[in-house]
Amino acid sequence: MSETMRISKEYHAYFCRRLLTCKKCFPETPGKFTDMPVYRVDPKLFIVGHAPSLYRTEPGFCFGGSSREIFAEILERFNLTRGDVYITNLVKCTIVGETIGSEEYCFKHLVEELDYYKPKQVLVFGRVAVSKLLGQFVPMNGRSIMLKGVQWIPLPHPMLAVYRPAAKAGYFKLVNEAALSYKRGSGQRSLWDY
Ligand SMILES: [Zn+2]
Repeated sequence: MSETMRISKEYHAYFCRRLLTCKKCFPETPGKFTDMPVYRVDPKLFIVGHAPSLYRTEPGFCFGGSSREIFAEILERFNLTRGDVYITNLVKCTIVGETIGSEEYCFKHLVEELDYYKPKQVLVFGRVAVSKLLGQFVPMNGRSIMLKGVQWIPLPHPMLAVYRPAAKAGYFKLVNEAALSYKRGSGQRSLWDY
């Protein structure tokens, strides 16, 4: 990848085209849906979710549909809006009402995005994405860990607070912890770096 590509909106469009035409997860099935990451010149935070909604309530839109309100509340705690953040998923593909794509196949797209943006702070939602990026034993408590010069902030998926309203208050305690981690910023070192 050339340096000009790194700052190019055209590159992002090219990336999205390849997402839409990628046949790794569903080689035979037409009607694949993909939630598209939105281009940002200089995102303040890089956010990784799990996968598109199976129900396609709001096609093409990460954290749309039923998790939309909770996600908006989370961004508020960070003093951010959707315009400030780059949002993408670990798994890009889904088929209506059936299944989602493969973590293994889709992961290469996420690796490419991380390589393209080189974010310093990454908020990761849900056990599947946290396991894939940080390992299965990393607690999702909003406390950040430094790894390879990046501040990773792991949280449970917002759908937890959607499915279990009783868990919402507890969930937002973790969100507050995560927002504090974010505001303290990257640049802290931990044992993980040595
Ligand atoms: Zn896929």
